[in-house]
Amino acid sequence: MLPSHDWPTLDAGWVWLCGAGPGDPGLLTLHALNALRQAEVIVYDALVHEGILDWAPQAERIYAGKRGGKPSHNQRDISLRLVDLARAGRRVLRLKGGDPFVFGRGGEEAQTLVQHGIPIRIVPGITAGIAGLAYAGIPVTHRDVNQSVTFVTGHDRAGLAPTALDWAGIARGSQVIVMYMGMKHIGEISARLIAAGRDPAEPVAVTTTATLDDQRTIETNLKNVAQDIENAGLEPPAIICIGMAVALRQALDWQAHARGEAPRDLDPLGLRRPAETG
Ligand code: SAH
Repeated sequence: MLPSHDWPTLDAGWVWLCGAGPGDPGLLTLHALNALRQAEVIVYDALVHEGILDWAPQAERIYAGKRGGKPSHNQRDISLRLVDLARAGRRVLRLKGGDPFVFGRGGEEAQTLVQHGIPIRIVPGITAGIAGLAYAGIPVTHRDVNQSVTFVTGHDRAGLAPTALDWAGIARGSQVIVMYMGMKHIGEISARLIAAGRDPAEPVAVTTTATLDDQRTIETNLKNVAQDIENAGLEPPAIICIGMAVALRQALDWQAHARGEAPRDLDPLGLRRPAETG
């Protein structure tokens, strides 16, 4: 049951582009739940946890994801499919992992829908680059560490390490770097960051299937990250965090604490902050 509130209606002929969060169904928004309740057809991606679809037993399910890293549906086909479904008068829910406008091509789908005169609603979601780190015990900002954070993709349109990015600029200007889709090219990217002056010993965390039961995190450093990913046998999807924020995990790995493990270091930044000063 949704709390009493004037919840929007998903009308016939509309498409709602909705974020499903990073995995854990508890990280859906109430707007997403409201959408799931009303949808007649759900077009969903690989990163949308199947358990979430079970909350919409009435809805037809259309899979629009990738399998084995290969695009099995091209983006234009997916967008036009949404147009067709809306024109057929369906109540369409386009469900995407995380937030639909964060590295998820939601903007492109929304553009196509608008160009075809289809009315849309955007339902933001909790993005993996923030929540995945939080579930690993890494605050994406912390006053003692960073006043900015840079979200990057490790993958461009052609499937290469993004050449349009000014890696030297990022190395210089980014206090904490949070990378989506970085697994394939992390060796090349870490080498570029080091070549541009980043400390090879800088802490790095790699978290896979974040927020789900099989979440795994390794802590490493910029120099060794690619090798350590391989040694640990980690597979995508993964969020890679580069920066001192990673050190805070020694104190804040709350999932380890829940399993009975003690914090490794209560003051990993060496600040000896008194218990609390506003
Ligand atoms: N729109 C999504 C991102 C889509 S791009 C969002 O806002 O989260 C796909 C990338 O997101 C993956 O390659 C991975 O880098 C990241 N990702 C999504 N879900 C994840 C999860 N549960 N654990 C780790 N990384 C995840």
